[in-house]
Amino acid sequence: MRIAAVITLLFGAALFAQTPLRLEVDANDAPRRLFHVRLSLPATPGPMTLLCPQWIPGEHGPTGPVVNLVGLKIQGGGQTLKWKRDDVNLYAFHIDVPAGVSTLDVAFDYIAPAEAEGFSSGGSTTSELAVLSWNQLVLYPQGADADSLQLQASLKVPAGWRYGTALPIQSESGNDVQFQPASLTTLIDSPLSMGAHYRTIDLGNDGGAPHYLNLAADSDRALEVDPKIVDEYKNLVKETGALFGSRHYRDYHFLFTLSDHVAHFGLEHHESSDDRYSERTLIDPEIQRVAADLLSHEFVHSWNGKFRRPAGLTSDGKDGVYDKPMKGDLLWVYEGLTQYLGEILAPRSGLRTPEDFRDSLAATAADLDNKFGRTWRPLADTAVSAQILYGAGGDYDNYRRDVDYYPEGTLIWLEVDATIRQLSKGAKSLDDFCRAFHGGAGGAPALKTYEFSDVVAALNSVQPYDWAAFLNERLQSTSPRAPLGGIEKSGWKLTYDSVRSDFWKALESEGKVSDLSYSIGLKVREDGTVADIQIGSPAQKAGIAPSMRIIAVNNRQFTPTVLREAVAKTASDSKTADTKPIELLIKTGEYYETHRVEYQGGERYPHLTRDPSTPDLLFEIIKAHAQ
Ligand SMILES: [Zn+2]
Repeated sequence: MRIAAVITLLFGAALFAQTPLRLEVDANDAPRRLFHVRLSLPATPGPMTLLCPQWIPGEHGPTGPVVNLVGLKIQGGGQTLKWKRDDVNLYAFHIDVPAGVSTLDVAFDYIAPAEAEGFSSGGSTTSELAVLSWNQLVLYPQGADADSLQLQASLKVPAGWRYGTALPIQSESGNDVQFQPASLTTLIDSPLSMGAHYRTIDLGNDGGAPHYLNLAADSDRALEVDPKIVDEYKNLVKETGALFGSRHYRDYHFLFTLSDHVAHFGLEHHESSDDRYSERTLIDPEIQRVAADLLSHEFVHSWNGKFRRPAGLTSDGKDGVYDKPMKGDLLWVYEGLTQYLGEILAPRSGLRTPEDFRDSLAATAADLDNKFGRTWRPLADTAVSAQILYGAGGDYDNYRRDVDYYPEGTLIWLEVDATIRQLSKGAKSLDDFCRAFHGGAGGAPALKTYEFSDVVAALNSVQPYDWAAFLNERLQSTSPRAPLGGIEKSGWKLTYDSVRSDFWKALESEGKVSDLSYSIGLKVREDGTVADIQIGSPAQKAGIAPSMRIIAVNNRQFTPTVLREAVAKTASDSKTADTKPIELLIKTGEYYETHRVEYQGGERYPHLTRDPSTPDLLFEIIKAHAQ
């Protein structure tokens, strides 16, 4: 059995290496959320299995949307062949290829979901635009090597729509696009955006590679980007050159989709990123204020995540393996370091002011420093649990912990950066680590895997220190307090007062919540629904839980302002000894009950306050570095 399997596999690999598979995608029905797919591939008589990609790179989980693959028809030698889905692996389709058949013609449709949350399998189309992810539009033969399996894709774009992608184009005719043959790995790594309102902005050629901002929007108005923002994205390109020293791509496309009706997230690729945010992001400074580090984060992933990747997120060091589970234990490097670098590149590029950067860092630090869940769940476990935590939902986050390797990565890598700077007396920084770890020859996409020990060795080559102990302490800790050493070593302190920063207000406005986490201990949506609660807070002690709805505050109908002012008033009441609990009329299911919140501290919001006894390293870290 084993030998036969090996022979099949070798034979299969040789068979598919010869001529590219033909993949035709018709996107004319994208506004009706349907993509039509035809695939022809060589076959040999006997049993054969076709796989739908399951484990999606960058999504760190089995998120391939096979449930939306419909209308599957497989033909060979002029007849329709019966297929049977594997009853354990639902992503596998078994067929028996009849004698004399050398080519299979596979046809299916993909249903793009309507306005769904999620990543690339979430909402991806509107009547005006679509984002196409090839993993949703292809089946591949089991046993084929994704790096050597060649496909020649073609695409019919809806009339009047334009498009952008990093996938090299062979020819265009009307709305038909023919792509150059590419490996399955490269194809799945090269999504495409298209739309009726489309604009491509040249961000300049830096380090030998051209860069483009490909904007697809739900309106022409959304494309009228302030030239200042374009300049900031051009700076971002230059700042990554200064940070990493080389680039591991042929050209780079930010596929930025601007719509209120697609899922909002960013997904990294070697030569592009699939970035999706609100329609008015680039024309409304308050939205851009919050979204300013989305593209910098995804861009950093080209180096940290795609070129350098934890071995556990590959299969035996191979890139395109879509049917093998991924291990997320090093996501605090893959995502955590990316989060830190994306956040510091935003002010380095001018995309975010130093003040907003510090207010963002204060919000991150406060969230983690008040997270009850850290007393039972070490950070390392959030990384291992990535594939279930992304879909966990937001309530009781303070207890469960979220995908905390992103924000806590910022704190840990800031502390690494500040420690290197202190120990080397300013001669070295985390930038030196990035050039050593992520640099190299550059050029076309490549993959170089690493383990924990490689990270430690690279840090030691920049600045000798017991980095293994430093990192393990932070990864395994169940201390209730967050690692704030990086903020303190950088000359700043986490403090609270009654003033909401402009960045905080923008966060509340974008999230459509009022965040009273550090006063009464809850976040509440505009309709009064409690989004989350801080364990041990006055609100929780009063019996309030996530998903309950606040109807009235001190007998007055709830609005975010009425609640905020009731919290603010507790500060002045406490001075006059006229202290009364805040009375919240709460609706739970069909029942109403009044809850009394014992609290006297007024509003409390986080800030970073300068500690003049220590030099301001944050200033050094976020100043422009490129010439
Ligand atoms: Zn990321």
